[in-house]
Amino acid sequence: MRKLALACLASLVACSPSSTSAQPAAPVRADAPKLIVAISVDQFSGDVFDEYRSHYTGGLKRLAGGTTFRNGFQSHAATETCPGHSTLLTGMRPAHNGIVANVWIDEKAPRADKNVYCSEDESVPGSTSTAYTVSPKHLNALTLGDRLKAVSPASRNVAVAGKDRAAVMMGGRNLDQRWYWDGKTFVTDLKGVAVPRTVISANQAVAGMVAAGSPPLDPPALCQAKSRAYQLTPALKVGDNHLGRTAGDVRNFRGSPELDGATLALAAGLVQEMKLGRGQATDILSISLSATDYVGHGYGTDGLEMCLQIFALDRELGDFLAMLDRSGINYAVALSADHGGMDIPERLREKGITSAARADAGLAAAEVGKLLAPRFDRTESVLKGLGIGGDIWVDAGVPAAQKDAVIRAAKERYAAHPQVYAAFTRTEIMAVPMPTGSPDKWSVIQRIRASFDPPRSGDLYVVLKPYISPIAVPASGYAATHGSPWDYDRRVPILFWRKAMAQLALDTPIETTDILPTLAASIGLAIPAGSIDGHCIAAVAGDQCPFR
Ligand SMILES: [Zn+2]
Repeated sequence: MRKLALACLASLVACSPSSTSAQPAAPVRADAPKLIVAISVDQFSGDVFDEYRSHYTGGLKRLAGGTTFRNGFQSHAATETCPGHSTLLTGMRPAHNGIVANVWIDEKAPRADKNVYCSEDESVPGSTSTAYTVSPKHLNALTLGDRLKAVSPASRNVAVAGKDRAAVMMGGRNLDQRWYWDGKTFVTDLKGVAVPRTVISANQAVAGMVAAGSPPLDPPALCQAKSRAYQLTPALKVGDNHLGRTAGDVRNFRGSPELDGATLALAAGLVQEMKLGRGQATDILSISLSATDYVGHGYGTDGLEMCLQIFALDRELGDFLAMLDRSGINYAVALSADHGGMDIPERLREKGITSAARADAGLAAAEVGKLLAPRFDRTESVLKGLGIGGDIWVDAGVPAAQKDAVIRAAKERYAAHPQVYAAFTRTEIMAVPMPTGSPDKWSVIQRIRASFDPPRSGDLYVVLKPYISPIAVPASGYAATHGSPWDYDRRVPILFWRKAMAQLALDTPIETTDILPTLAASIGLAIPAGSIDGHCIAAVAGDQCPFR
């Protein structure tokens, strides 16, 4: 068994310095950090952050020593990767930035299935909803990097992630480099950008790691105590997996701490090669670490596997920050998550949450739509949806005169199901004003309103009761998930760290949309009043916060 130590950053990526020409200073504060590192840990719930908090010894310990909000909120209902990442550096909720889901249905899309992916350009000939063309086209907002480069052309904006949608939503449109894992290697969608040497060496190193496989992780006692097998299906057992990987198994590479190690190594290599944080202008480095999400989906949020992942993440983040320290860069870090997650219902029930269950497969839109079809003289489903719960659309084949009747019938049918909390129509949702005030106090329909954008959202929004997993039948890599309006999916940590910052741990609920205005204030970047949803946090940016 190997120790938890992963591939050392320094050995994975060969870094060689390159020259940085003298460039004009940015119109930001003289004491601004020269590098802002914005980190998203995919599916890092407030619950998981809290559970391991007293055990952090690496990067998470360091970052939790700054200003820590354990009650951050991805305040909206659509707690998926794309909407979550879209709020982090835009300061805007999905209702305003347009990223209402990972995938939505657009009947005008030039393809048979009408599914549109959040970070693609579906108008590119030949692209499909699975073989898509990566693009920020659907993001109706500016990111921190976009805003900074507009006033400070010498600033660099770089994004590195385990998922394309994370890199796109955090980076935005105006980037110097954007790299993400495509399932086999790190790739970019940017055209005409010179490929840094570090990307080539990182991809070579990763190919070698994948080919070699990796032995099972040696768990610390805390993790070992969590080891307990749950046989979810005859073919699927979770809870006691040590995340080892056979030679050549690239799929499980992403579902192990190795993916985060590789992502951070690539980010570290880009810092060195591009001399980020060492020019005259402030640079932005966005990093999204996806392994926690893949581990959460594959094994749930509270077993041996997640424990191993969190210990590894803590260690890898510590190595990455140590690299920045050695470089002498004046940097600041903000860390949060795109959403939380729900554990497997089988384990939740044993912990006393007796209502935890898997959803009835009959709740899928296509199934309910088929049951309703005869009432509307149809044989095919009158409804379309993606998975169970969330947005549901009336099928385009239903005559306009019947659409309202279909919506009423579907709402009634869903509302009568014992696993359904409520079903809200588009009209009901849009009648709700955009919520204000503390996000922990919002009603469910207010949460839905915060990620509802009429041109993209559905005709009906279905909410399952708390602890009903929308995964009716677990499969390999997909035993647990997120996406609900409940706080186990909405609550995430938000950490701000800068050298010599006094430790301040706060319980005050804040929103992830508050990160952008806070970081902007900390570097003196003006954000036009009323252009975003978030608010600058005085506990971090102090009297640099405008309007306070
Ligand atoms: Zn996920």
